[in-house]
Parts: sequence; structure tokens; C-alpha cells
Amino acid sequence: MRAPDGLVPTTAVGVSGVPSGAPEALRDAAGRIAMRRIAVFGATGSIGASALDVIARHPDRFRASVLAAHRKVDELVALCVRFQPDLAIIADASFADALRDRLAAAGLRTRAAAGVEALRDAAAGELCDTVIAAIVGAAGLDSTLAAARAGKRLLLANKESVVMAGQLLMDAVRDGGAHLIPIDSEHNAIFQCLPPVATGRRLDVAELGVRRILLTASGGPFRGRRRDSLASVTPDQACAHPKWRMGRKISVDSATLMNKGLEVIEAHWLFGAPPDRIEVVVHPQSLVHSIVEYADGSMLAQLGNPDMRTALAHALASPQRVDAGVAPLDLIRSGGLQFEAPDRETFRCLDLAYRALTDGGTAPTVLNAANEVAVAAFLEGTLPFLAISDLIEATLDAMPAEPVADIEHLLHTDLTARGVAQRKMRQGFC
Ligand code: NDP
Repeated sequence: MRAPDGLVPTTAVGVSGVPSGAPEALRDAAGRIAMRRIAVFGATGSIGASALDVIARHPDRFRASVLAAHRKVDELVALCVRFQPDLAIIADASFADALRDRLAAAGLRTRAAAGVEALRDAAAGELCDTVIAAIVGAAGLDSTLAAARAGKRLLLANKESVVMAGQLLMDAVRDGGAHLIPIDSEHNAIFQCLPPVATGRRLDVAELGVRRILLTASGGPFRGRRRDSLASVTPDQACAHPKWRMGRKISVDSATLMNKGLEVIEAHWLFGAPPDRIEVVVHPQSLVHSIVEYADGSMLAQLGNPDMRTALAHALASPQRVDAGVAPLDLIRSGGLQFEAPDRETFRCLDLAYRALTDGGTAPTVLNAANEVAVAAFLEGTLPFLAISDLIEATLDAMPAEPVADIEHLLHTDLTARGVAQRKMRQGFC
């Protein structure tokens, strides 16, 4: 197993006593870690809120220099009042005037920009050295790729971009000299459990003696339920996650176990692990965020309360450690740690994700697109919960995997798969 260039654990200690994986640009003339200027894409979302909470705790280290949202202008302007960024971006260009007028009315010096190109330019531009990629869904791919190509510190929450375009994204990280740190709690945990490597060396987990990666899953709100009891569950029930407070799309993904499936594909690309070395284990307490098993029988795990601020603080401050505002985990009162196998018959999305990963090529792009269509329809009340996996499977069946040519090919595949899934829904396939 070989991890791509650019993904280097930052715990290796160099001669200065500072982990040797830290890019030189992050230090000032005296060798101290300099103030980090951070672009938060998806600032109005759940990850955005957690990221800004950590940033606000450390005004001496972090500055939110760019904030971006999709359509929530009022929320974005409220964040600008609080964080005074250099630039605010609204991705839906029809809100450009509203953003500009409200920033002016608030007396802010924050510049306004709008549209997908503005996101791309800011991801690659001089206003930030760090990009938090926390846009939900395939819409995050473009700016994530731009940040990778521009060699930024890329703090990656937007798992859909890795699922859609894993090879191309990891190539962009390598070619751009970017420094990718996973934010997804499981991948951040794995990242922390992998051994240090020297500056400039590629991470090779087989060489490092990694036997298996164990991704933990809470099991979601429907853990323990049988398939026939899930026919009429509502979006609110699906979004009532027992452990994590998240946006609605990822909450539904957690309820179907597609979230874990997407994470299997994400782990494959981030850590260079083949599918048969990535396993999923249900751990209802959500205290062990994932495990790396080594050839000598050692299992290294990262534990903590289920709060995304831990992963964000780790990635923001890496290689140093800072307070995340997260309560310490009380192991005595935790009630014990429980592990069980996932119910793959009830939650069929997990195996569909393994299938797409094994099929390779464009299959994960098709999987992701069909899932986004299905989840949006479920949230709108037009598709039953159990039909989510049926629709994804039908779309995968209709679009056999092709080798990936380039990004245009992937974007075209994404659009085609959305069209196929929409058409199948209209035809009442289930
Ligand atoms: P939310 O739904 O809470 O927030 C989504 C954010 O993305 C909002 O700021 C939204 O803006 C913005 N956005 C939506 N569509 C677009 C678009 N087309 N262009 C630009 N911006 C857009 O999602 P989460 O914070 O829960 O998740 C974000 C990402 O992080 C997802 O990929 C998810 O899988 C991943 N993740 C989330 C975790 C969590 O705990 N929430 C954990 C691990 C990973 P607006 O508010 O204006 O609509």
C-alpha cells in the first residue's frame, strides 16, 4: 500500500524539535509557527461552525481571512461582522448584490465576491495559506482541487470530492505540493495513528507494517432495526443522529451507512489502502474514532468525545496541539466500549460503496452522484428511505465503470449519473 505524495503525518520530529513534516512557509524568520490565514469554505455549515469556534479561541494563531457560503447571505454577513475576513464569497452568484449591500450596510471592509470562479480563485489565492474544504457534496470538488494545485494546507472535510475524483485529487496534492490533513474524524484519527515519516519521504503503509485500517461507525439512528421496520422513516428521524450534530446530507448518509461507505473510498485514496485492508466496525459510543492495526498485532486508536472540534484543532494547529474547547473524555464514566459487525443486509449502501471501489474508474463518481440525488429526494419527501440504496444500485447497474480520462470526463460522468438517477425516479423504478 502506498499513500500518495503530500499526505505526510506531521508528527515526525526534526532537528529543531518541530515536526519535520511542517511546510517551511508556515514559520516566521525566528522559526516560530506564523499566524495562519484560513479560508473556510462552507462557513455557514456544521463543520464551518466548529472550525470558526476553534479559530476564535486562538486569535494569536489563526485568522479567518476568507469566508464562503452557498446562499445564506445573512448568516455569512453575521460571520463577517464577528470575524472581519478580507473576503466573503457567496457561491450562488444571484446573491452577489445582496452580499455586497449588506456588507456595506454593516460598515465592514470585507470585500464581496460571488460565483464558483470566486471560490476557485480564493482557494488558490494569496489571502489564505490554509483552506478548510467544508462545502457539502460534489460542489466542493472544484475549490478543493484548486487549493491542492496551489499547494495550500488543505484541511479536507468534503469527502465527496475524494470519492468522486480520488486519483486526480491526490495527483493535484502531489503536483501542487499541498499539505493535506483529513478532517473527517475517522481519517483524522487514522492520520494521527500512522507513524511519522521523514520530510519529503512518501508514506508507504505496507512498508510501515500496517495490516488493517478499522473504520469505526456509530451505526446511526437506526442501528439494530431490521429492514422492514424502516419503510416509512422520516427525514427528521434519519437526521436525529445519536452522537453527532451534522448537516442533513451527511446525517442521512450516516443513517443509511453510505457515510461509512464513502469513508472506505476516502481511506483508500488518502492512505493508499486496498479495499480488503479497510474494514468497518460498529462502535455505538463513538469514542474510538478509528484504529490502525499493525503486523505485530498492535492496534493504535485515537479516542475522544464525539466533537469535530478535536479533528479541526488538530489539523489547524498541526504539528502543535491547542485547546479545542472539547471536554476531556471520562473513560470511567464512558460506560465501556462496544464493537459489533455492521448489518450489511439492512444497510445495503455499505456494500454498494465497496462494489464501486472495487469496480474502480468512474464507479465511485456514479455512486456519489446517485447518492446525492437519492438523499436530496428523500429529504424532500419524494423517495422512501429504503429506496435510496435501490436507486444507487440501479444507477451503478446502468453505468458500467470506465477508466478515468480526466476531470472533464469525471464531471460529465457526474452529470450523466444524476440524469440517470433522476430519470429512474421519475419512472418509478421502485
Ligand atoms: P452543512 O450542510 O451543515 O453545510 C454545508 C455548507 O456548504 C454550508 O456552508 C453551505 O452554504 C455550503 N454549500 C452548500 N452547497 C454549496 C455550493 N453549491 N457551493 C458552495 N457552498 C455550498 O454540511 P456539513 O458541515 O455537515 O458537511 C460539510 C462537509 O463536511 C460534507 O462533505 C460532509 O460530508 C463533511 N463532514 C461533515 C461532518 C460533520 O460533523 N458535519 C463530519 C465529517 C465530514 P449555505 O449555508 O449557504 O447553504
